[in-house]
Amino acid sequence: MNTKYVFVTGGVASSLGKGIISASLAKLLQARGLKVTIQKFDPYINIDPGTLNPYEHGECYVTEDGAETDLDLGHYERFLGVYTSKANNVTTGKIYNTVISKEREGAYLGKTVQIVPHITDEIKRRMMLLSKTGDYDVIITEIGGTVGDMESEPFVEAVRQLQWELPEEDCVTIHLTLVPYLSAAKELKTKPTQHSVQKLQQDGVQPDIIVCRTEHELSPELRKKVALFCNVKPGHVIQSIDADSIYKVPLKMQEEKLDILVLNHFGLTCPEPDLSRWNEFLYRLDHPKTSVNIALVGKYNLQDAYKSIREAFVHAGAENECRVNVVYIHSENINDSNAAELLKDMDGVLVAPGFGERGLEGKISAVRYARENGVPFFGICLGMQMCVVEFARNVLGMKGAHSTEVNPGTEYPVINLMEDQKSTTSKGGTMRLGAYKCELRKGFLAEKIYGKSIISERHRHRYEFNSDYLSAFEQAGMFSTGRNPDTKLVEIVEIPEHPFFIGVQFHPEYKSTPENPQPLFVAFVKAAMQRKK
Ligand code: GLN
Repeated sequence: MNTKYVFVTGGVASSLGKGIISASLAKLLQARGLKVTIQKFDPYINIDPGTLNPYEHGECYVTEDGAETDLDLGHYERFLGVYTSKANNVTTGKIYNTVISKEREGAYLGKTVQIVPHITDEIKRRMMLLSKTGDYDVIITEIGGTVGDMESEPFVEAVRQLQWELPEEDCVTIHLTLVPYLSAAKELKTKPTQHSVQKLQQDGVQPDIIVCRTEHELSPELRKKVALFCNVKPGHVIQSIDADSIYKVPLKMQEEKLDILVLNHFGLTCPEPDLSRWNEFLYRLDHPKTSVNIALVGKYNLQDAYKSIREAFVHAGAENECRVNVVYIHSENINDSNAAELLKDMDGVLVAPGFGERGLEGKISAVRYARENGVPFFGICLGMQMCVVEFARNVLGMKGAHSTEVNPGTEYPVINLMEDQKSTTSKGGTMRLGAYKCELRKGFLAEKIYGKSIISERHRHRYEFNSDYLSAFEQAGMFSTGRNPDTKLVEIVEIPEHPFFIGVQFHPEYKSTPENPQPLFVAFVKAAMQRKK
């Protein structure tokens, strides 16, 4: 069988959930026994989102092989339970970088280098790249941005060319649009969808399937109308109605027969989808027996900035049959005198990852409150670093102890730059990135939680625990309980005397999925439930 391709474009507005629709279709095809992957092509000029402020673009998601990628790749992994890689996220910046380097090498043999064909050829090459691995039956390609944006044009043009180059039965295009409801008129409106499809058609791409995002059911008449005006088969206009959980969207797409439309186009017959584990997760999600409040102490007041952490709590909550209310607390608003007031209703405190100085003292106050009051504490990356700083200052009496990230001159540099980071001045893609092994110390919390002695988790940081201070910390009660087996870098710290106090240098949230919730999150939620009791 040839590799099959699905291209997903979006129109009318951004944030309609192209990533979730792509992931849902992928889930349905996977549940029917096909090997599926999803890739995202982003129209911005940044080489990757690593240098983007989370306020601009939400969280930066990190893959096993250390790529800093768009947060949609997190959805792909969570839905499919299959790792993505560097090749799954391509940006305009990457495309131009390759083409310009080739031009400097003289690879174009004196030709004028142009958007068509050189940029579009490079886009097409990358769109086909994952098929070369032979690992996939179906490759879904999500085109970021909105049709009609200047930046998206070369990507749409590449899809247009591929529609002709690939055998017709190997290529499906799906266009996701919005059908808004005008409450004054009490009517759903299809005109924006018509215009968006017209734009796509002007660019030479005829969608095979139109998915309409809507807050109200689309009537058969309305579907027919869209089909008529947009030149698609009547059964090929389907709705994506708002769901209370993104994890229910695959079922909604199954009701709408999106998978069947795609398989029919490909000429494939597959067994019925086996979604039993997925449905078990959804059942637990919908039937919590208790609830807990977890404080998420961070500095980005934007849902998407901590996407993977929030999702990991959804998975861990369902696993524990417990609803986890994640209460965002801005670290700039918290200090030693108001911490008790702000955190008194919290059953657990998570201090978030991050970069730079803003809000750090607040994070330290939150750690202190959790440590002194026996509230379950979970620190991730910068959150772990701040629990080390807090312990140094308030337990070891090292006044002004800090991370050299914010105070290079501190007398007690308990967190400092890693050796291999000292010579780099470049910002993009230069951190310690991707999966590294960690060896867990026998008898401590982390080892009990993971139930094994060697684990692997993903990293994204420049600074680390300064092991010159390790024996002082251990004498006072904070232990290093996980270390990199090769470099001996400290990856986990714990306070065994505390009911649940753990800080990890890595990002466990990236690997949590509904079907395989991350063990640290599961244990943390359990500890919070205990605390509440
Ligand atoms: N800023 C810290 C570092 O670079 C922590 C990074 C993070 O939380 N991801 O080490």
